[in-house]
Amino acid sequence: MKIISDDFVPANTGWGRPINKGQILRMTAKSIIDFACINLHNTEERFDQARTKVYNMKLWITTGDVLYSKLNNPMMTIIEDQFAGIGYHDLQYGTCSGPRFARAKAEGRLNQYHHGDDIPIPDHGCWENLIHGFSAWNIPPEYIPSPLNVFQHVDIDTKSGQINHSPIRPKDPIHVDFRAEMDLAVAASACPDLAAPQFGQSIQCMIYEP
Ligand SMILES: [Zn+2]
Repeated sequence: MKIISDDFVPANTGWGRPINKGQILRMTAKSIIDFACINLHNTEERFDQARTKVYNMKLWITTGDVLYSKLNNPMMTIIEDQFAGIGYHDLQYGTCSGPRFARAKAEGRLNQYHHGDDIPIPDHGCWENLIHGFSAWNIPPEYIPSPLNVFQHVDIDTKSGQINHSPIRPKDPIHVDFRAEMDLAVAASACPDLAAPQFGQSIQCMIYEP
């Protein structure tokens, strides 16, 4: 293994780097990571939640599954998933954000969104962190892709369509490895993760060559 970069990302901050085709991104955490990727040579081509679900024909993806772009191209393949057997990564939710927290509080719905009415809400979240993570590529805020939410286990009632936050998270830091299938800009947010009993933690983002 040849390590290209290895970065500590504090809680509720963002990270971003380029990664070459064939290199591997290892993200390690015990709380949610919002993750997205963009074609390094054409920033109009971005990760797409819907394409990813349909091409894999599933709501949850794990080892062997592929992240797709809106332009129908494979972007990354999950090659190792230590969350398997504990929970699923989410492909339904968008990013948390300052406006989302403020709206939930104004509507008196913090308890529905999170695990308490009386918890302090941050002034920013994953949306702002991903904007920062992609800042080297000048991606406008409205074009930040809806993410793959790593380690965000969500309960889905397939009869009613109801989706609910879950506190299921890794007990200790574990990793998921993604192989780049094209040259990419990748960005990750260490989610403030208000739905987890221990809230959001720092994460580790490493790029390596096998
Ligand atoms: Zn978040």
